[in-house]
Amino acid sequence: MSEEQVRVRYAPSPTGMQHIGGIRTALFNYFFARSQGGAFILRIEDTDQTRFHEDALRDIYETFAWLGIEPDESPDHGGDFGPYVQSERLQRYQTYAGELVASGRAYLDYTSAQRGEQGAAPYACEGRDLSPEEIQRYKDAGVRPVVRLLVPLEGTTEFDDLVLGRIKRKNKDLPPDPVLLKSDGFPTYHLANVVDDHQMKITHVLRAQEWVPSTPIHLLIYDAFGWEPPRFAHLPMVMGKDGSKLSKRHGATSVIEFRRQGYLPQAVMNYVTLLGWSFDDSREFFSRQELEELFKIEKINKAPAVFDYRKLDWFNGQYLRELSPEQLTGELLPWLQAEGWAATPATEEDRTRLLALIPLIQERLKLLQDVVPLTRFLYQDITSWDAQALVPKKASVREALEWLDQAWAVVESQGLADQEELDEAFRRAADAAGTKVGNLLMPLRVALTGGTVSPPLVGSLKELGMDRARERIAGARAVLEATVS
Ligand code: GLU
Repeated sequence: MSEEQVRVRYAPSPTGMQHIGGIRTALFNYFFARSQGGAFILRIEDTDQTRFHEDALRDIYETFAWLGIEPDESPDHGGDFGPYVQSERLQRYQTYAGELVASGRAYLDYTSAQRGEQGAAPYACEGRDLSPEEIQRYKDAGVRPVVRLLVPLEGTTEFDDLVLGRIKRKNKDLPPDPVLLKSDGFPTYHLANVVDDHQMKITHVLRAQEWVPSTPIHLLIYDAFGWEPPRFAHLPMVMGKDGSKLSKRHGATSVIEFRRQGYLPQAVMNYVTLLGWSFDDSREFFSRQELEELFKIEKINKAPAVFDYRKLDWFNGQYLRELSPEQLTGELLPWLQAEGWAATPATEEDRTRLLALIPLIQERLKLLQDVVPLTRFLYQDITSWDAQALVPKKASVREALEWLDQAWAVVESQGLADQEELDEAFRRAADAAGTKVGNLLMPLRVALTGGTVSPPLVGSLKELGMDRARERIAGARAVLEATVS
């Protein structure tokens, strides 16, 4: 077994958008394959045609492309074991189901039509022992059978899960006689999944813990065929901070939604890989290349992982700081374009202007979209000021007016050339006014930028230019004056 080439797969059903849990499974498989010099396969499990969505299928490819996950074999890339879309493999499932019926490990059940094909306990075994006459009656009535696995009523099915350890189930506690092939000739998940994992020579199945109850059934199917099963590693659940299963309620869960909100794929990839996996107890930052080398199944945790949006934001901020000014400019331009602040395609001038702003904003960005509020004051005129914002807490309107004038007088006399001298002059002015520098500068900051949170004052002023700055001071003064009188 040790010489085998590792082959793993991510097998999404295109029924909804790719979410954090799904992509975590994809990444673990991908990194495990890479770390072992193995193959990573993308297989589309679309046999439930009632739940199939074209958008969901597109979303799988879009998410992979965004995260930079490149499967070695997939519907797009092809491979030796295709097709990689289950709806294109129907014939095989039918043949294999027929084999199990012939060998007596599965049977044709004519009674399912009356109670729905997914019918579980207590009815599911009802069709096992029909007499030939009864079967004939169903046939005459045009009833098409389903194929059911014959689950032994005695014994146990057990396996060693690479994460959870030994798992043991009494056969009598398994869902009795699950359907393998529906009456329309479509396989169920159980049959298609097992046949494909076998045919695609999958060596390890890494999938979410919610599939643990299915695994004994799969093992019975492998056994019925006389095939060696792959090894299984069931991944811990991903929970919200409140301890419940991660859902929309906790915020964005679709991966593409994270892109829309301005997360970087490398930050999402890094953070998601830490949901239930760790290299050691402390290290948090890993490049894709490092994960491709370092990932180990032994380091997957059993305990549920907690998805913390604030932590992801922090990660994203760290990754944004790592970008070169040119890279960051490239990432941010689409956000300006969406506001109409840069042309599409962006001109050289758009680029240069934004590049000059990078030193002002890079440290302050958590998400790419933060560029909009941070630079709005440069790209848009301010036509009204919030009087309340202009007045620092506990100060009077009159004080705010004085501080605005004093701070601006410092700028006019000192100029912007020497930051240290300017800071010193602000400090002296604050002392003279009997307040803190932060208070002294607040009305000026709000006058110039329209808000209390902004890039550093001097840099902002330089970008704004003295003429526009003077206009804004006048505008803000007028608002304060009107409030005073
Ligand atoms: N199609 C299943 C899903 O959507 C695959 C489960 C498995 O990996 O076996 O999650």
